[in-house]
Amino acid sequence: MSLRTTYPYLYDEVLDLAQSFQRDDLITPLDLGRPGDYAQVLDPELSRLNTWGKIVLRLAAYGLLPEEIIWRTKTDLEFGSGTDIMESIIEESVTPQDIREMRRRDKSFWSKYHGKLYLMYKDLGLDPQQPKAGEYACTWCTGGIAQNRHHCQTCGAYPADRRTRYLFQKSYRESQYRRR
Ligand SMILES: [Zn+2]
Repeated sequence: MSLRTTYPYLYDEVLDLAQSFQRDDLITPLDLGRPGDYAQVLDPELSRLNTWGKIVLRLAAYGLLPEEIIWRTKTDLEFGSGTDIMESIIEESVTPQDIREMRRRDKSFWSKYHGKLYLMYKDLGLDPQQPKAGEYACTWCTGGIAQNRHHCQTCGAYPADRRTRYLFQKSYRESQYRRR
């Protein structure tokens, strides 16, 4: 077997080309009758922009993929990969003791699933990277976020600069799960 591992994204030619692009080459407003990013459905301010990202990648896929895939609305990783089906399985495993532990940590989560993943992450001895110069602490997870950003790349909080009243942003029939 003659397998070889390569990293084409690190080739000088690719890096030079990537660094030559301007923002407008990568992200542009387009009216395709649907949002370029699912976040535009959730945030009226973003929906006014009607922008599409990954333009170079989309154009490179012409001739390789059908157009409906090339111009697919960008969604979170878990929907494209199919790992979103784990959400209900993990949510069902959340115990009252887990909820108490999530409250004790004084964090905010999108859902019980998100909170349970956080507890698993902590069980591995991991911590979000703390803010460096020019960053502030995410109000949900305390991870560092650049001053001009509102989205936390560690936990996905949005807006990450405002504390929330609830332990979970998702509402559950049995409780609103207010923070203390
Ligand atoms: Zn965070």
